[in-house]
Amino acid sequence: MPDAPVPAPVFDDLVGQQLAVDELSLAVAASHGDPGVPGAAMTHAWLFTGPAGSGRSVAARAFAAALQCSLRGCGHCMHCRTVLAHTHADVRAVVPEGLTISVKEMRAVVQLAARSPATGRYQIVLIEDADRLTEGASNALLKAVEEPAPHTVFLLCAPSTHPDDVSVTIRSRCRVVGLRTPTATAIADVLTRRDGIDPQTAQWAASVCAGHVGRARRLARDGDARDQRRRILAVPGALRSLGDVFTQAAELLSQAKGEATSMSESRDAVELAELKTALGAGGTGRGAVGASRGSAGVVKEMERRQKSRATRTERDVLDRALVDLSGFYRDVLARSLGSDAPLLNPDIPAQVDSAAARMGSAGALGAVDAVLACREAIELNVKPQIALEAMLMALFAGARPPADDGS
Ligand SMILES: [Zn+2]
Repeated sequence: MPDAPVPAPVFDDLVGQQLAVDELSLAVAASHGDPGVPGAAMTHAWLFTGPAGSGRSVAARAFAAALQCSLRGCGHCMHCRTVLAHTHADVRAVVPEGLTISVKEMRAVVQLAARSPATGRYQIVLIEDADRLTEGASNALLKAVEEPAPHTVFLLCAPSTHPDDVSVTIRSRCRVVGLRTPTATAIADVLTRRDGIDPQTAQWAASVCAGHVGRARRLARDGDARDQRRRILAVPGALRSLGDVFTQAAELLSQAKGEATSMSESRDAVELAELKTALGAGGTGRGAVGASRGSAGVVKEMERRQKSRATRTERDVLDRALVDLSGFYRDVLARSLGSDAPLLNPDIPAQVDSAAARMGSAGALGAVDAVLACREAIELNVKPQIALEAMLMALFAGARPPADDGS
C-alpha cells in the first residue's frame, strides 16, 4: 500500500483511529484519481464497525465530507460545513425514528440516492444504525448495494460484522472499517485540545467514559450527566431491603423518562417550528393559505414520528444507565478476582472494594449477568419496569453475603 496522504482536517474529530483515517484518506485520493494510488482504494459501499462511542458515525460523516469537498475535507467549505451540519443535499442520513428502519423509509432513500448528485461529487447514503434495519429494509438496501448507481456511495455503521448486526449478504459487499476503543489518554487529549475543557476535568471524564468519546464530552460539560452517573452508581448501595427494589426501579424509570422528555421537547419544538415555516404557516401571501390547508397532515405525520422517536430516546437513556451499572459490577468482579486491570470507575475505588468484599466473584458475575439480562429483555420489548424490577431483585439477592447455613 502506498503511503497514506496527510489526513485532512475533517478527520481531526476521530480519536485514536490512525489506521482507519489512513484508509479513508487513501480512498479519497483514489476518488480523485491521484497518480500512484490504486483506484480500488475507493469503493461504493462501506461498513464502519466498532464498540459504542468509538466514533462510527463520526468517521462515516467525516468521510462523506472528505468525498464531497473539492479540497478533500478542508473542514471549512460549504460542502464540509453542510455535511457536518447534516444539511448537505447529497448526503442522506437514514436515522431510525422508531426502533427500526422500515422498508418504506429505505426504498424512498434508495430511490433518491440513484439520482445524480445536485452539487457534490457523490450521492451519499449514510445509515447510522444499520443494525436496526428490518429484514425488508435490508433487502431493499441490498439491491441498491449490488447494483449501485455510478455516483452513489453507501456508508453503513453497526456495532460489529456479526450477522445479528448486519446481514451476511450486505456485509459481503461492503469494505469494513473497524474502529477501536480509543485510549483514555487520546480522549483526554481531544477534550482539552478541541473542546477547550480544562485538563483535570478532561482526564477524569476520559477515565470514566469506558472509551466513549461522546460520553466523556457530555460528562465533562454537563452537570446533569454527572448527576445521573452518580445516581446510578449509588443504586447498588441503596438496595438494603426488598422494598428498595421497587422504589429504585420506579426511580430509575422516572429519571430516564425525565431526561428523555427534556431531550425530546427541545428537539421537537425546533423541528415543528421549522416545518411550519417551511409550509408557510407564518406567511400571509395567497400561496400560504393554500399551503396551510394541505399541511395539517404533514404536521400530524411529523408528530407521529416524534412520538415514536421519544420512545426510542427513553430506551437509549435507560440503556446508558444500565451500561454504567454493568461497568460498576465489572469493576467489582475484577477486584474480587484480584485483577489490577484499570477500573472503569477509578473515581470510586472504596465503593468498588467494599462491594467486592461483600459479594465475592460469584456474586459480582451474577450481578453483571443480571444487568445484561435486563438490557436484553428491554431490547426484546419487555416492559422496562418489569425488567428493571427483575434485575434489582437479582442484585438485591446477590449483594448479601452468603447465608450462614451452619454447615
Ligand atoms: Zn471542504
